[in-house]
Order: sequence, then C-alpha cells, then structure tokens
Amino acid sequence: MTHSTDLNLPLFERAKALIPGGVNSPVRAFRAVGGTPRFITRAQGAYMWDANGQRFIDYIGSWGPMILGHGHPAVLEAVQKAALEGFSFGAPTEREVELAEEIIRHVPSMEMVRLVSSGTEAGMSAIRLARGATRRNKIIKFNGCYHGHADSLLVKAGSGLATFGHATSAGVPQEVVQHTLVLEYNDVAQLEEAFTLHGPDVACVIMEPIAGNMNFVRASVPFMRRARELCTQHGALLVIDEVMTGFRVALGGAQSLYAQAIPGFKPDITVLGKVIGGGMPLAAFGGSRAVMEQLAPLGPVYQAGTLSGNPVATACGLATLREIAKPGFYDALGARTRALIDGLAGAASAAGVPFCGDTQGGMFGFFLLPQLPQNYPEVLNTDGMRFNTLFHGLLDGGVYIAPALYEAGFVSAAHTEQDIADTVAVARDVFQKL
Ligand code: PMP
Repeated sequence: MTHSTDLNLPLFERAKALIPGGVNSPVRAFRAVGGTPRFITRAQGAYMWDANGQRFIDYIGSWGPMILGHGHPAVLEAVQKAALEGFSFGAPTEREVELAEEIIRHVPSMEMVRLVSSGTEAGMSAIRLARGATRRNKIIKFNGCYHGHADSLLVKAGSGLATFGHATSAGVPQEVVQHTLVLEYNDVAQLEEAFTLHGPDVACVIMEPIAGNMNFVRASVPFMRRARELCTQHGALLVIDEVMTGFRVALGGAQSLYAQAIPGFKPDITVLGKVIGGGMPLAAFGGSRAVMEQLAPLGPVYQAGTLSGNPVATACGLATLREIAKPGFYDALGARTRALIDGLAGAASAAGVPFCGDTQGGMFGFFLLPQLPQNYPEVLNTDGMRFNTLFHGLLDGGVYIAPALYEAGFVSAAHTEQDIADTVAVARDVFQKL
C-alpha cells in the first residue's frame, strides 16, 4: 500500500519535540537504517498495522516476547480477568507462586527465582547477587553480548587481557567499569588466560548462550563447556542470560540444549525476560537455593521493586507459558522458523546475494555473508548499506524485521505457512535489486 501522505511522519515530528529521538528505546528510531519509524496502532496474530493503516508481517514480536503472536485469546482472557481483580497490590499473590513454579518446572537449574520488571533489572540484580555471593568484584562479559543497560555492563573491551574495559556510554564512571573484563565471544584461549590472570577475583562470567544482540551467534559447545569448567574450578558463578533465548529457543531455554551436549551442564544463575512476561513488563533471575538465599530479606544482597511480580504481568506470563508448554509447540515453531530462513536463503541465492542464516526454535538470524560469524568483529563484516536496502525493501513490501543488522528476529506461533511464503516472495524481489 502506498500513501500520498505519510501519517507516521507528523507523529515522529511530534514525538521528537518531546521525547529524545522521538522514541523510548533507541533502536526504534531507525537511526541505523534511516527513514521514519512506523508508529504502530494495533497488532493481531502475526501482524502489526501502522498509522497509515499499512499491515506488516511482524518478525520483531516486541523484540521477543510475543511468541504466541499478538492478542492470543487465552492470554487476553487471563489479562482481562487479572485487570478486573486489581492492577497492583505491593503484596504477595498466589499467581507469583504459580509463575515461579512454572518457570522452575521447565528450567530446573533455577531452584529459586525472583521476579522483576525488565531484563535490565534482572541482569543487574544477577551481577550484584554473584558479587555478593562470592564476595568478589570482577566480572567477565563478552564483546557483542548485551545484558541490559546497568552501568557495569555497558563496557567495551580494554586494550588487553590485563586491562579492564571502557564505558560505552557517557555517564558511566571508569571506577564503575574497572571491574568488568570484556573478552571475545567463542574464544576459549582468551577465557583461559583471563582466569589465569584474575581467577581468584572473578565473581562471575555472564553470557548470552545464543547471542541475539549481535544478530545470531551461538556459543560453541567447547566454549560453553570450558566456561563452565573454569567457573567451577575458580569458584566463580556462570550466569547465563536467557532474556532472549529463554522459552524462545526451547521450553527449557538454550541451557537445555547445551545440557544435551555437555553432560550435567547447568548455569549457577539464569536471567530471564521477554517471553516469560508475554508482552508485559516482567523478567526474572534465579539459581541454586544457596545462591538465591543470599538475597534480601534472607541474605545481605539487596534487591526490590514496587511493581515486581505485578498481578497483571504475571497473569500474562503464566497464560503464555501454559500455551507454549503444550506438546509439539516448539516442533511446529522451529519448523516454521527454519522454513523462513530456508526460503530467504533460496531467494538470496537466486539473486546471487551472499547469505547465511541460523535458527533455533522461534529465533533466527541471517547475515549477508557467505559464512556464519563466530564473534562480534566477524559480524561487523556485514555490508551495512546492503542490509539497509534490504530492510527498507522488506518494510515497503509489508515485512517488518528489526531495523539494525545486529538484531535477531522472531517467528511466532501465529505465523502461517502463507505468511512465510508471502515474506519470501517480497524478499525475492528485494534481493534482485541488491
Ligand atoms: N539481556 C538480553 C540478552 C537482552 O536481549 C535484553 C534486551 N534485548 C536484555 C538483557 C535487557 O532487557 P530489557 O530490555 O527488558 O531491559
């Protein structure tokens, strides 16, 4: 659909006058790809509509949470019922216990869990807990992994293994990031060297098991195995950030997949978000009973939240988890997601455009490269201009993927075979023009 007047544009102008960049989270502003962000008016199933009334097949899914698609009837009903009972009590509810039970049932490395309101809060709290529990200060993270915008995690690599990182944001004092060591993802030798140098001071290693904030890069099995061994050997905690992958790539999260390849594998702390809230502000962190009992009010590590365990959010999350736990859910979702990437690969190949992609469950990534990258510097080899042309071609054709090449994509249970076929048809035309 084309429009003589674009109704997104005046909205963007109004927004920019009042909200920095016109958005409440930076990547929504289309800075990387250029153009006007689409102001969304409603969404249903696999589709979203913008201010012009244009329909998009949605492969962002609110950046991960909408695994059932938008407005799933069972979820809507649960949310409506909960809202009638009250928005927020600031007191415990049975539903929080039910959600905790549901999470722990599927992610057994979490013996106890605490609910919070965002992935940032969960990641930040997990780090504080790891430091409090080990009584150590240093943390190891990996280049290209994102764990929310807590000060100590907004860090890029220092000049060598003996030096710690530099803040990637203004407003973060060097003193705050001096304990954060940033290493290359999937680099076993670097990790070993870091532990040789700093082992007794390392509180935790935090990583995305499938890094969705540099598009889609899997932690190799040897890398994950060695990270687990080194943490155990040096008394550090392994923190797996499954905000994106949790209940998205498999019912038990990415850790359940690594446990198939690495006998006995489990993280000490798991961070969850996105899908567990089904689109409402809800996230969580959890781990062994011994570690979690370090949290207030039982232990010395403080953490709290006015809206934590919010009754409407927990209703939304619980209804979502109950739907996705049904038999066959991930088989169907995984097959649909794989069909999308295979279709796009075929369309790219027909046009002679380099392309490679990967999927797990309802999460996917693709690169305009001949071979899948293993770390962030390799991801940066992607031709950004080409990606931008692809992005806008797809968007104009009614297909909404993330407006930056560093982002993973998501398929929901509401996406049909026809949606995939329609997407591939649009992509075929766009690839021909690249
Ligand atoms: N960890 C990971 C792996 C994420 O992908 C994100 C958000 N994309 C976060 C943490 C932060 O979550 P939130 O945006 O809910 O604060």
